Amino acid sequence: MNQSEKPYVPHTIAIDGPVASGKTTVGLLLAKELGYICLDTGIMYRAVAQKVLDLGISPIDEVAVTQVAQVTDIDVREPSVQDGRQFDVLIDGADRTWDIRTREVNACVSEVSVFPGVRDAMTLQQRRIAERSPIVMLGRDIGTVVLPNADLKIFLKASAMVRAKRRYEEERALGRDVRLEDVLELLLHRDNIDSNRQLAPLKPAKDAFIINTDDLDAQGVVETILAIIEDKQTLR
Ligand code: C5P
Repeated sequence: MNQSEKPYVPHTIAIDGPVASGKTTVGLLLAKELGYICLDTGIMYRAVAQKVLDLGISPIDEVAVTQVAQVTDIDVREPSVQDGRQFDVLIDGADRTWDIRTREVNACVSEVSVFPGVRDAMTLQQRRIAERSPIVMLGRDIGTVVLPNADLKIFLKASAMVRAKRRYEEERALGRDVRLEDVLELLLHRDNIDSNRQLAPLKPAKDAFIINTDDLDAQGVVETILAIIEDKQTLR
């Protein structure tokens, strides 16, 4: 069988998109459907931000933050507790799953993510993980930088208000007393830094399929992605 007769099976799937575009829910559902692992790379940047806060380092101190990224042990595993978590997140061996979702981390994670040394350390680990098994990897720069040869690239987008409302609902469901205006403001702040940084900015790869999730629920997005895969199979 020559190369062109092989069925199209994407072993590496990159899903990028801004805050609350639905990446994690969609990625987990898709990975389950395909029997792949799912890595949410935002967790790794959040872990660096958490450690920076733990150590009382300024999030804009590039040298210190880069050192933290280089030495911190970050482990992402299947959830071991049924408390609404999607993954277990271990930082230097300790369970910090919920700590990395706090307002304090949200407020500084985009700042620590701009530094080249931080990105290099995370990108290296992400590529190593992708070599191990078929994967759905989620982030901001997966299709453009981390896995530029990914078999399938998806970019999820949605309006800022739809995304803010989704995040607001999630926070309220966790019992947090948040205001929609504040959620929207922080989301726009992070989008702004993520999209305008010099290195690995948030943007769709040239060969990414762009899906607007404004009017789609997570299952609808997964079905759209599976239809793209099927189309590619038929076109072969
Ligand atoms: O996806 P999540 O909102 O958890 O990501 C947290 C932050 O981590 C993003 O706002 C971004 O600053 C950073 N990030 C990144 N590159 C990735 C994933 C996340 O810079 N691949």
